[in-house]
Amino acid sequence: MRRSNLAVFFTVIAVLGLIVFTTLYFTSSQKSVKGAGDAELFEKNGFSAVVIKPEKALEMLQAGNRRYATEVRLKDPGVSRNARKILLKGQAPFATILACADSRFPPELFFDAGLGQLFVVRNAGNQLFPDTLGSIEYASLYSTSRLIVVMGHQSCGAITEAARFMRQPENGATPALNSIVCTLIPAVLIAGKKDLNISEDKLIDDAVKENVRMVCRAILQSSEPLRKMSASGKLKIVGAYADLDSGKIEFFQP
Ligand SMILES: [Zn+2]
Repeated sequence: MRRSNLAVFFTVIAVLGLIVFTTLYFTSSQKSVKGAGDAELFEKNGFSAVVIKPEKALEMLQAGNRRYATEVRLKDPGVSRNARKILLKGQAPFATILACADSRFPPELFFDAGLGQLFVVRNAGNQLFPDTLGSIEYASLYSTSRLIVVMGHQSCGAITEAARFMRQPENGATPALNSIVCTLIPAVLIAGKKDLNISEDKLIDDAVKENVRMVCRAILQSSEPLRKMSASGKLKIVGAYADLDSGKIEFFQP
């Protein structure tokens, strides 16, 4: 009698143990499968990397800019010989930055970023030309960038020149320079129309932001694959304004 009670007791314990084990095993395996399924993996020529989602990429840029503006930059953000060695296998940038060529605003420094982290495209006035769009498309369609930032800045010479050229077209520069400046005139006109009593400094600042918004919209209008990615939530495009006084970058929806 005692023996049979003992046998029943151990059988119950064994069954309970089996139930707990099975539940834990399947819960944990479901979690890991879900985790693997959520993450997008990028693979190219034997190089692989996890793709960083746009929301996370934006947080990383904001954190990097906070470090830069408060002068607590990373000791090594990833620019060492060792970093270069790792990057020999491939690149996995987490954001694309279309920025002005102005020498005072290098995106890698303003975002405290290392090699292989930012896919940077630059020209005077951070404008969208066909080759600019091609570079941006490459980073999002054939590489790992899922965040596009169009970044204007304080005291932009290209925008200032566009405002001047608009008033005195007879005082143009070279044909190539005139063509760059002319493309920026619509942004100045829109900024000026919004406030007829605007000061010159405010006009330039507003035109910089207007140009950023126009370029953000033009990227989506010009590229069907990027438009589809954006509509599905896989890609984000945001505007940004870099301030030289504070070193801070303000992000805004285009
Ligand atoms: Zn500029």
